[in-house]
Amino acid sequence: MAVAAQSRERAVVEGVPKRLLIGGRWVDATGGKTLPVEDPATRETIAEVADATPDDAVAALSAAHEQQAAWREHPPRERGEILRRAYESMVERADDLALLMTLEMGKSIAESKAEVTYAAEFFRWFAEQAVRIDGRYQVAPTGQGRLLVMKQPVGPSYMITPWNFPAAMATRKIGPAVAAGCTMVLKPASLTPLSALAVAQILEEAGLPGGVLNVITSSSSGDVSKPIISDSRLRKLSFTGSTEVGRKLMEQASEQILKVSMELGGNAPFLVFEDADLDAAIDGAMIAKMRNIGEACTAANRFYVAAPIAQEFAERLADRMRALKVGRGTEDGIDVGPLVNDDQLSKVEELVQDALGKGAKPLVGAERMDLGGYFYAPTVLSDIPDGARLLKEEIFGPVAPVKGFADEQQAIRWANDTEFGLVAYLYTRDLGRAMRVMEQLEYGMVGLNQGMVSNPAAPFGGIKHSGVGREGGYEGIEEYLETKYCAVSY
Ligand code: NAP
Repeated sequence: MAVAAQSRERAVVEGVPKRLLIGGRWVDATGGKTLPVEDPATRETIAEVADATPDDAVAALSAAHEQQAAWREHPPRERGEILRRAYESMVERADDLALLMTLEMGKSIAESKAEVTYAAEFFRWFAEQAVRIDGRYQVAPTGQGRLLVMKQPVGPSYMITPWNFPAAMATRKIGPAVAAGCTMVLKPASLTPLSALAVAQILEEAGLPGGVLNVITSSSSGDVSKPIISDSRLRKLSFTGSTEVGRKLMEQASEQILKVSMELGGNAPFLVFEDADLDAAIDGAMIAKMRNIGEACTAANRFYVAAPIAQEFAERLADRMRALKVGRGTEDGIDVGPLVNDDQLSKVEELVQDALGKGAKPLVGAERMDLGGYFYAPTVLSDIPDGARLLKEEIFGPVAPVKGFADEQQAIRWANDTEFGLVAYLYTRDLGRAMRVMEQLEYGMVGLNQGMVSNPAAPFGGIKHSGVGREGGYEGIEEYLETKYCAVSY
């Protein structure tokens, strides 16, 4: 690597605070322990960040609790302006933030830049929503008395975010909480803490008062989370991550009857009907599958294609996958970076081997790549047998299984045959079919003739085991507001 590129990488990492943010001060973890952050493309440690203890976690919650009463009185316009300034700062620093993200998470610089933009947009959207929190005035049906409905901040919130979108999953929670007048503790994933720390630094510079946002990084997420979640001062838990961990956290949250938001795993079907625009469907498939190296909760997990065109679809998809350049995301022209770690790589490999062992055919890929990091080749499998595990489990990697369906009813049945319900995609030019199928899909979101649904102005979220609650859109701020009804007599 060129010396200039190396020193820029070092400078970008050095510019980020590595300590805990508690009550407006950057502090070391109690005992001074740190945890390493690795570049998944090289397996080298690029930074050490503070490794919080349960005591630090409680201190962070205390800081949030202390600031809550003042913060809820802060004028909504000013809350919005802080977010607006943070949005502008993220856009200005997009290049550095993107490099930082690629270094800790692996995706290509172009993809990291797209995430920085997406992440910043949550601040812009919620800057605009901060001044639109309203309520209701109503004459009681009897004519006697009035009904007054007001929206108030829910209170101190705990946010846990995953490694796959290290900035956007944080801003999607911080944005509405700041707008609503809630204080918070954020715990990013230990694999990717740097992007979240950079976002916290930006908010601090944008004028967010100390104690409103507190950040803890830790190698023992369960140990630091438990005392926060069981503390009666906490009022809200917002989690993005796996269904398995989400289920545990919901159980813990029941002790204090917390308001919860859960953005959990997915198993998205991608349906292509015979009348679809096949070129558009292939383009959409590439986005739905390969965005974020396939490590997205919204990633197309199962491609169900009308039987007469299934083979052609699979072969054309394989051609596109074959053309992708795999390598370290920081390098020019790279389309696909490494997976985040060895566990993720082994899981993808295991699912592919299972499908191949049961009779699936590899059209491209289906192997690790020896490039130094956790690389897996972009893969297309056809002739997927019914019992293959990757039809049931989230793949979270660059693997596209294609299976032919006989008719519309079978396509819908297969699509819904999962405990997940985050997002489904369908390609058809028949409007009647589109409406019929969309109405029958048991999912929180549907992409019609497009391979991406994420949009800060839209309610993102799932049903069934994919979670509860919505982030973004008009709905996003509601997760941080309580409804108070006052029965007024005069
Ligand atoms: P994960 O293992 O569930 O971890 C998510 C977060 O929870 C991380 O910060 C993790 O910290 C923390 N965590 C793990 N165990 C915990 C515990 N016992 N108590 C408290 N916190 C705990 O998920 P992941 O592997 O990072 O992310 C991938 C999953 O997220 C996929 O299933 C994906 O579908 C889902 N996801 C969903 C959405 C959505 O909006 N629906 C968006 C993105 C991702 P440590 O890693 O440091 O332990």
